[in-house]
Amino acid sequence: MSDKAMADGATPYIATARARRDVPQERQCLRCETLFWSEGFGERICRRCKGLNAWRNAVPVTPGSSRGR
Ligand SMILES: [Zn+2]
Repeated sequence: MSDKAMADGATPYIATARARRDVPQERQCLRCETLFWSEGFGERICRRCKGLNAWRNAVPVTPGSSRGR
């Protein structure tokens, strides 16, 4: 099977796969599993979760005060 792929070697499928991962496309957020627009491979979390995270990081929250779960 791989022999056939190699014989077909005219198509740089590896480069294609790599490019596809680095291309902006719709992905599923790792946190809320919502489909969002990812600008690149490194973007795995939707803007909402990212914003939430940034917000939580920016605001000085006292440990133990997060009992609203
Ligand atoms: Zn999310």
